[in-house]
Amino acid sequence: MNILLLGSGGREHALAWKIAGSPLLTRLWCAPGNAGIAQEAECVALDIANHQAVIDFCKANKVDFVMVGPEAPLAAGIVDDLAAAGFKAFGPSKAASQLESSKGFTKDLCQANNIPTAAYQRFSDAAKAKAYIRQMGAPIVVKADGLAAGKGVVVAMTIAEAEDAIDMMLGGGFGAAGAEAVVEEFLTGEEASFFVLCDGDNALPLAAAQDHKRAFDGDKGPNTGGMGAYSPAAVMTEAMCQRTMDEIIQPTLKAMKAKGMPFKGVLFAGLMITDTGPKLIEYNVRFGDPETQVLMLRLMSDLVPALLAACDGQLKHFDLRWYPDAALTVVMAANGYPGDYAKGTRIEGLDVASNVDGVEIFHAGTKADGDKILSNGGRVLNVTARGKTVREAQARAYQAVDLVRWPEGFCRRDIGWQAVAREADS
Ligand code: AMP
Repeated sequence: MNILLLGSGGREHALAWKIAGSPLLTRLWCAPGNAGIAQEAECVALDIANHQAVIDFCKANKVDFVMVGPEAPLAAGIVDDLAAAGFKAFGPSKAASQLESSKGFTKDLCQANNIPTAAYQRFSDAAKAKAYIRQMGAPIVVKADGLAAGKGVVVAMTIAEAEDAIDMMLGGGFGAAGAEAVVEEFLTGEEASFFVLCDGDNALPLAAAQDHKRAFDGDKGPNTGGMGAYSPAAVMTEAMCQRTMDEIIQPTLKAMKAKGMPFKGVLFAGLMITDTGPKLIEYNVRFGDPETQVLMLRLMSDLVPALLAACDGQLKHFDLRWYPDAALTVVMAANGYPGDYAKGTRIEGLDVASNVDGVEIFHAGTKADGDKILSNGGRVLNVTARGKTVREAQARAYQAVDLVRWPEGFCRRDIGWQAVAREADS
């Protein structure tokens, strides 16, 4: 098969690495890709926001299958446009992508179908939103309705903070994405990321993971796109996974089908595991970044037939095999991230670092300059390792991190700390 992968981050490098190992593959392209992805795929300088350009490439190169990495093209309807042009693409339609592109849509769907989630109200009027905030009290959570690149959520510890968030969002701080806001109950518990492949009717659970969103050790500092992740997630026991499937995932698929927008693709449920069970924090309609990096290291089976089965409505009798091992990824970011940072700084030692047992280094934001590798983003490398335990995976990942020579970068030194502490207790 000729496969085109869309995206340029660590998630796409991990997907390219996995797809490149498929016996079904003839040629793999990635648009636009990065310096690491170039080791697995032919990178092409396509503007993926230009759907016609993507379609033209597919025609010219006899592409059999398009794998969409990020959410923006999905929300813009790239799967619909490719389908209309006769190309099979993995991911939800524009309508079904609303599970990520509109928090209000998802909250209403949960409410109408008794799917456990935080109590909420939707607002476009600041005075009404503030009255609700005062009535509910703090802590309380304020979210922009639309896509805001992971920055649209304010967990407010005081009423004043929540009111400021409303003023910022409804005042245009996130542009159209914040024209409406969701105000919701603050949930307590342990968070987990749960991934399922969906074919419109059936869902095949992948694995669960946990990530670290804060920039600094001890889960302190500003929120980021994610500074590391590991899998499995101890809190997602078999029973908890089953409850999540029965109480959250299956009712969502049923409701989406009834609405005439069956969900196909990967559904990524951000969960809070509360005293009373799993509650949905949010849906994403694509693979997580950096969770995918650990999932791909744990997946034993070929990914490509599973992606095709999701597109073709054939997941019912499908099964995937996983390594029992744990995997962990450490994100190396440019100094200053998630604020301002420099691009174009030189990274050395990657060859030696990737020779550490069980380690794969995925590139999140790099570019090649001759035989040099330069940073080209905020999150730059994902140093990922497999091990018999999270502790072993963590030790291998940091052994490799310490071999990377990049003075202009930093990483957290405590990725996986909760899981390692749990392993020590058991
Ligand atoms: P989201 O982008 O919706 O996943 O939110 C980002 C982060 O904000 C989540 O990973 C949680 O840590 C936190 N968060 C979101 N909603 C809530 C909630 N209702 N209660 C507590 N924390 C939340």
